Amino acid sequence: MTKPTALVVSAHSADFVWRAGGAIALHTQKGYEVTIVCLSYGERGESAKLWKQEGCTLEHVKVERKKEAENAASALGAHDIQFFDLGDYPLEMDREAKFRLVDVIRQVQPRFMLSHSQDDPYNTDHPYATKMALECRMIAQAWGHNPGEKVLGAPQLYLFEPHQTERCGWKPDTFLDITDVWDKKRAAIECMEGQEHLWDFYTNVAENRGNHFRRNSGGQAGGRPARYGEAYQSLFPRTVDEL
Ligand SMILES: [Zn+2]
Repeated sequence: MTKPTALVVSAHSADFVWRAGGAIALHTQKGYEVTIVCLSYGERGESAKLWKQEGCTLEHVKVERKKEAENAASALGAHDIQFFDLGDYPLEMDREAKFRLVDVIRQVQPRFMLSHSQDDPYNTDHPYATKMALECRMIAQAWGHNPGEKVLGAPQLYLFEPHQTERCGWKPDTFLDITDVWDKKRAAIECMEGQEHLWDFYTNVAENRGNHFRRNSGGQAGGRPARYGEAYQSLFPRTVDEL
């Protein structure tokens, strides 16, 4: 039997760690094969610590960021991580790069996809990545694109948590309990040596989201004591037989 799959589209090489590391580790534990696509390394815009070293070059930053992301993906147990190396600040995708992402989507046939919020005034690469994920999801569904290939169904696109939620028009409707895999997420976070200033910040976010999981699941009243969580906003409606 083929395993269920999921696909993460990350603008920069570390985004998937802070924002979806728990989902990646948890679904891997549940038997999913999770594929991560990093559209860029975040080499120009999200690697300040490396750039402060003397004699630093773009190539050096990319090599270091790639290593960190590979270590993080392996700490989370991800099935595959692919680097598109499209450049960041700004991130841009031409037709060829879009078709490359469509190929990955069709190969993976994800049950669900994860990407950024649809707005982020602090970091326009993030919503751009989501726009590209949506566009490529749409192309992957088109019968006229590379006829004969298996077309994509309708996987949910979950938008993961931006840095400053209230400025990004992001409202979570889904809370995931990641307590069981928190150690793996923290280990992946610590692979991001260039962004040590964010380690505790995102630990704190996970604790707060754990609280929201408890609040919304009735856990405050004595149910499952989720300690760490991740929050998502789903973009598409659910189709159900019962409410
Ligand atoms: Zn980023």
